[in-house]
This record gives sequence, structure tokens and C-alpha cells, in this order.
Amino acid sequence: MGITIDGKEIARKIRGEIAAEIQARIQAGMKRPKLVVVLVGEDPASQTYVRNKEKACAEVGMESEVVRLPAGTKQADLSALVKRLNADKSVDGVLVQLPLPKGLDDIALLGEIDPDKDADGIHPLNMGKLLRGEEARLAPCTPLGIMEMILSTGTDIKGKEAVVVGRSNIVGKPVAIMLLAKNATVTICHSRTSNLSEVIGRADIVVAAVGRPELVKGAMIKKGAVVIDVGMNKLDNKWVGDVEFEKAKERASYISPVPGGVGPMTIAMLLRNTLKAAEGRKA
Ligand code: NDP
Repeated sequence: MGITIDGKEIARKIRGEIAAEIQARIQAGMKRPKLVVVLVGEDPASQTYVRNKEKACAEVGMESEVVRLPAGTKQADLSALVKRLNADKSVDGVLVQLPLPKGLDDIALLGEIDPDKDADGIHPLNMGKLLRGEEARLAPCTPLGIMEMILSTGTDIKGKEAVVVGRSNIVGKPVAIMLLAKNATVTICHSRTSNLSEVIGRADIVVAAVGRPELVKGAMIKKGAVVIDVGMNKLDNKWVGDVEFEKAKERASYISPVPGGVGPMTIAMLLRNTLKAAEGRKA
């Protein structure tokens, strides 16, 4: 029976470290780091995520501001807002909550955020640095959180078979690159992968980032594998991951739960990115 990776607890410790660093900065006469979140439209899940981010900022002593805009906001007005935030010296991190309402171009907008204020770590320049193995100050939050969770198990990633299910720009691709940088042998699966169960069966490390409830069956998991479940699926008013948790736990050495796994880690990494952005600005 595997051990549950307590993402909530790891995130709590990281938030504690961040809070202490912010306190030390303030004592040294520096300002509080500030995150601005841009929220366009009324998507209920996004409203919840943004509230959680605000709460987490307050908890570590970070300033936060949410700019709420109607769904009908024009691309040009969003661009102008991002430009203003880029130029505003009081702002350290800028995050545009995704998804944007239909008709707005998220890729174009994310590319307009100052890469040094890119709290989500998904600006093309930061992603490019990650891909090239260059030291990037800011990297994507969910993949950073996943790596922390794997490291927390004491697993030596080097030479291990890692299988990432999902190839999104915010989770699947960047986490695969991070695992590669730690010398895992990495396979990325997606909706057109024909032998999913066979590929997953080889994995010492499985990262499931699909968005399909319990797609990864317990029986697919190799005995002793480390399993990270990124999926957040609402089923009958309950959060369910992409992995069949109870059955997978019987075979895994370590497994992350949903909720209480990757979610809190993502927010902790957002706070860490914002603090790093502030440090980079030497404000
Ligand atoms: P996307 O929808 O952008 O990507 C999903 C990926 O899964 C795609 O690459 C898709 O393949 C692949 N996929 C879909 N169906 C299958 C299948 N049957 N077999 C294999 N692969 C499949 O999702 P995200 O990466 O943004 O998010 C994934 C999940 O993680 C979601 O549940 C999301 O809510 C959650 N999430 C949680 C976060 C947290 O902080 N806890 C943060 C971010 C995401 P293809 O490319 O071929 O279409």
C-alpha cells in the first residue's frame, strides 16, 4: 500500500518559508511583493481559483490585487492593462487567469506580460529557457509543484522511466522537460496514444494531467511507482482526479490525492515565483 503525498502539508511548509522571507525583506526596508491577478468574465471555477490565490497571498504577507473585467472586454484594452502593469514599479507579478472568455487571444496576451513579472512562468521566453536548460527565474507553477512533490518522496529521478499523460503547455510539456532535466527517460502520452496502458505500465513515475476522471486505472500502475495526479474533475459535486486513487494506491509507492495534492502546491509555487520576481527587481 503506497504512501499518500500530502501536498497540503508540503505547501504549508513552503508558504511558511515564503512568509519568513517576506518578513525579512520588510525588516530590511523593502516593500511587500505584490501580485496582480487579471480576471476576465464570470467563470465560477476561475472565481474560486482567484479567491484562493488572494487568500494565499494574504497569508504569507504578500500584497495582491484582482482586476475584475467583464467578459466583453476587448483584446486591445487587456493589452493596454498589461502594459500598464508591466510599467508599474509597485507590481512584481502579473497573472492572467485562464481560460479567457471566447474571442480573446490568451497566447498573444500572455506574450505581452513582462517575462520578469510572469508569475505563472508561462511566458514564451521563460518556457524557452526551460526548454534550453537555461537558468530560468520563473517557471510554470503546476510543474514546479509536481517536481517538489516527487522530490519530497526521496525518489532519485535519474535514469527512471517517467510517463506524463497530457501535453498541455501549462502542465504536460513543461513537467516532461523538468523530468528530462533531472535525467529521467521521459515519454509523453496524449489523446492519440494507442497503447496508453502499456506505456504507463513501464513507468517508475507517472504524472497524469488529462482532465478525465480516473482515466488512469490502478491496474495500469507498475508496482512501486510514484504517481502524481494533476486532474481536477468535478463529479457529483466531488473532486476526482485522473487516477483511480484507491486501486492505484495499492500498487504505487507514493501517490498524490485529489484534492489536497497538486492544487495547493501550484498556489505555493505561484507565491514563490512572485517572491522571486520581486527579488529579481531588487526593489
Ligand atoms: P488540457 O485539456 O489542456 O490537456 C489535456 C491533455 O490530456 C491533452 O494533451 C490531451 O491530449 C490529453 N488527453 C485527453 N484525453 C486523453 C486520453 N483519453 N488519453 C490520453 N491523453 C488524453 O488540460 P491541462 O493540462 O490544462 O489540465 C489537465 C488536468 O489538470 C485538468 O483536470 C485540470 O483541471 C487539471 N489542472 C490542475 C491544476 C492544479 O493546480 N491542481 C493546474 C492545471 C491543471 P491532446 O493534446 O491529444 O488533446
